[in-house]
Amino acid sequence: MIKASADKDIEAYPGPVPSFPFGPVTAMTLPFISIRGFMGARKKQRILIVDDAAENIATLAALLKNEHMIIVAKDGAKALEKTLKNRPDIILLDIMMPGMDGYEVCRELKEREETKNIPVIFITSLSEPIDEAKAFNLGAVDYITKPFHPIVVKARVKNHLSLKMKNDMLEELIPLDGLTNIFNRRKFDETLEREWKRASRNNSPLSLILLDIDYFKLYNDNYGHARGDECLKKTAEGLKEVLSRPGDFLGRYGGEEFVIILPDTDLAGAEQTASRIQKMMADLNISHDFSMVSSRVTLSLGISAVPAAGGAGTPVDLIRSADQMLYKSKQNGRNRAHSCLLAAPRT
Ligand SMILES: [Mg+2]
Repeated sequence: MIKASADKDIEAYPGPVPSFPFGPVTAMTLPFISIRGFMGARKKQRILIVDDAAENIATLAALLKNEHMIIVAKDGAKALEKTLKNRPDIILLDIMMPGMDGYEVCRELKEREETKNIPVIFITSLSEPIDEAKAFNLGAVDYITKPFHPIVVKARVKNHLSLKMKNDMLEELIPLDGLTNIFNRRKFDETLEREWKRASRNNSPLSLILLDIDYFKLYNDNYGHARGDECLKKTAEGLKEVLSRPGDFLGRYGGEEFVIILPDTDLAGAEQTASRIQKMMADLNISHDFSMVSSRVTLSLGISAVPAAGGAGTPVDLIRSADQMLYKSKQNGRNRAHSCLLAAPRT
């Protein structure tokens, strides 16, 4: 019998044999695993079990521990904390818990960028269709009522974990940000590295723009996350229109931050692009009654460039300078751009 406690973490339930969640490793799956050098083949998928009753945790953990890594939490706050810390692949979530209930936990998880793609299965004694509908509306992938049949729980968890793994792999292959459909951060890192080398080789200038939606948190808090997402999408669309040259790169840098790489562009050119971006944002005319700087959504921008001489600093310096300039724009009242040129190296 497994003794569960709120303090137990992943180490508490070590299972014996790692397994490949798509099924047994065969001649069919082997090349696939080796091609991807796949993490799932080495690392067991993690399940977070959230329930205020220790005996429920123990039952579920006993059922699933052989094939998966088990993490447990006995209340909503701990569940959120452990989700952020341990990045589970799936969450089995009780609804009725003292303090923060399962619905609230699910809502929080789905609102956060870093946790919204983790599948949530509710396991609960609430069996009314209205409870179930509420769970699905909050973004749950499944709903299991207690008392449950262990083999059914196991089968459902296995299915959802398999889907999760496929989604993770797709995400790794697709260089796009899921919300805005522009490039993601990983693609940005690769592209900047490549453009930097190209600029050094060709002795050509390279510019970078980091930009941030002003008072976006207040926008989200007051208009809701759905409108917030809409605002991000519109901004991304607008930026795409401004950046018409084939080599220009647009990516989502994080939350409400976007990043632009402008190959073959000197500081003056990048400043012109920044002005066009600000005009585009004004033309979008998205009202923001909670902004401290305007009644419309505005942007703060930071621009950095390496001159035609090339070779000054590193890609990281270029990012750091743009970030400092963005910070300066915010400090000086937002809805503006600041720029700087990376100094040429001393020779
Ligand atoms: Mg409960």
